[in-house]
Amino acid sequence: MRFHIITIFPEAFDSYLKESIIGRAIEAKKIKVLFYNPLSYCKPKERVDGRPYGGGPGMVLRPEVFIKCIEKALKVISKNKKAKTKIINFSPSGKKFDTMYAKNSAKKYTDIILISGRYEGIDARVKKIFKADDISIGDYVLTGGELPAMVLLDSISRQISGVLGKYESLEEERVSSSIVYTRPEILKYKNKNYKVPKVLLSGNHKLIEEWKNSSKK
Ligand code: SAH
Repeated sequence: MRFHIITIFPEAFDSYLKESIIGRAIEAKKIKVLFYNPLSYCKPKERVDGRPYGGGPGMVLRPEVFIKCIEKALKVISKNKKAKTKIINFSPSGKKFDTMYAKNSAKKYTDIILISGRYEGIDARVKKIFKADDISIGDYVLTGGELPAMVLLDSISRQISGVLGKYESLEEERVSSSIVYTRPEILKYKNKNYKVPKVLLSGNHKLIEEWKNSSKK
């Protein structure tokens, strides 16, 4: 899977992409991340944004430089005759992203173009021309589409075979609970003892699984 990220802030991705599972997935070439910066298509002194037609606050990202980035990405992608491409634009009012979307994307596509907006977003004609999906990662407004791009990249990558270890992915499918414990068995904090639930120390796998399932919610 190749992720083609269009952003005016590519450095925002640097440290995250180096770490842990995603860092290893890139090293092992399970995924590849390429960047396209609309600023590099601006002529000297040309701005990447413009005032919105119809008035209102904030600035709108100009279509031409984003179109150039998408065309560049599509050109790179077209070298693979079997490529299957999805183009995603981010917007707080888009379709809500979830695990199903991540699973389907990992299955269906070889290349995903992620358009990270800023300010008031990108001129709407870009989405129309390229039939981009409008995707939201939640009901809140962020400063830019870089975090949403990282969220999709991370969760879609986890669905690609070989990115998670065999044990991790099986565990995630079977029982993944957010209530977890490690050493010490008894944690002392401000004169109180906080114990690990007994069942987890029992060695009884059936009971442990039942407990994990019931603690899932
Ligand atoms: N008024 C604009 C807000 C733009 S926020 C609107 O209603 O669309 C600036 C950029 O941040 C957006 O273009 C988008 O790329 C990103 N963004 C902000 N919140 C987001 C969210 N919840 N999900 C996905 N992208 C988001």
